[in-house]
Amino acid sequence: MTRQKTRSPSTPHRPSQGNRDFRNRIRRDGNPAGEQKNTPHGASPAGNAAAQPGITLKAGREKSLLRRHPWVFSGAIERVDGAPASGDTLPVRDASGSFLAWAAYNPASQITARVWSWREDEAIDTDFFSHRIADALAMRRELKLADDSNGARLIYAESDGLPGLIVDRYGDVLVMHLGSAGAERWRDTLADILHELCNPVCIYERSDSDSRALEGLEPRNGVLRGALPDSVEVIEHGLRFNVDVAAGQKTGFYLDQRDNRALTETLAAGRDVLNCFCYTGGFSLYALRGGAKSVLSIDASGDALRIAAENLTANGLDATRAEWQEADVFQALRKLRDQGRTFDFIILDPPKFAPTAAFAEKAARGYKDINLLGFKLLRPGGLLATYSCSGGIGEDLFQKIVAGAALDAGVDAQIVHYLHASADHPVLLSFPEGAYLKGLVLRVSG
Ligand code: SAH
Repeated sequence: MTRQKTRSPSTPHRPSQGNRDFRNRIRRDGNPAGEQKNTPHGASPAGNAAAQPGITLKAGREKSLLRRHPWVFSGAIERVDGAPASGDTLPVRDASGSFLAWAAYNPASQITARVWSWREDEAIDTDFFSHRIADALAMRRELKLADDSNGARLIYAESDGLPGLIVDRYGDVLVMHLGSAGAERWRDTLADILHELCNPVCIYERSDSDSRALEGLEPRNGVLRGALPDSVEVIEHGLRFNVDVAAGQKTGFYLDQRDNRALTETLAAGRDVLNCFCYTGGFSLYALRGGAKSVLSIDASGDALRIAAENLTANGLDATRAEWQEADVFQALRKLRDQGRTFDFIILDPPKFAPTAAFAEKAARGYKDINLLGFKLLRPGGLLATYSCSGGIGEDLFQKIVAGAALDAGVDAQIVHYLHASADHPVLLSFPEGAYLKGLVLRVSG
């Protein structure tokens, strides 16, 4: 399990469907690798079919598990005994037969097993899931997430010891994404536990991300428990956002940016703001409430922009200071440059350009491009808040790309904030892949 094999967590943070233009760019470059392919690994030789089901690793391939990294890649497997089905819980052993972990098996995935537990004496059953879920909920309670917010990521997959399970809360509606065969197997148990512990009016399943195909799982989208209200709203730092649970991107809203959006509010007063990749207006509404002089918001999704405009009205914010533009940001930034437009504060929060480190180079060009244009559109003393949610682009690399962009744009800039996802998206120390979101706020010299 090497760094190169690093893949993003069980579910994509940002689906790439909305990013058709970027994908085309990749294809025009002659590399069709903009999407991951589900290469059947076929590399785990069947062991003794009559033996107890279990996975035995190749000699020396137990190291990452001993460091408690919860993934077993197909290439690390010596043999699979028994005739296990996808989603079955299997013991994983090293080459000498010593127990390493209980893991969910998925022969269709390059991540052939995801660890549930490191304890041999632990049963993977309803009690196990009740405890894990209760612990994840307790952590969010203890964090005392803002009083004036009713949205949170309640369960964040591997980071909460529940590989493949994402649960986002929007008021009294829970949205669940199952991104692994193991989570899929326990769907009903998980829904029952969540229903009992959270008492939501609805548990809605949004298991229709691209990453499901990599796991050999069919897309699913529908109500699991209760009934979906006609409209779902999340309140974030007192701002109200309509969430399209059934058809919106990801689970409907990007909760990970909650704290960074709040920071935006404190920086926006009196500024002309440009918010690129605005989705349903998150950063735009905070900027307006923070006293921005004007906010131009751009996104390729007309549906997202319609909700954004409704969100603005629902919060009683001044629509005359807001302009919404449906466009490809790569083209729109060039147009703004050609028109000689400039801004005091630019926000760049694009979708995931690099699902894995293998796509880092192509993605780096995309980040360089938008950041370079961003720097060019900034007035002296202006601020750039720039983000990457690509698991394949590390913090250091992202900072280097942004530094290269500033250099090429001919500006000097200082980093004034290093940003990450909000605390309800914790990062397990043994699973650094959980830290996909990184951001910088930079000030160009006056
Ligand atoms: N900042 C947002 C989340 C952004 S998610 C928030 O706080 O809620 C990324 C957004 O980029 C999506 O809304 C998607 O529709 C949009 N998008 C993807 N590719 C794009 C492109 N080439 N041009 C414009 N928007 C794009």
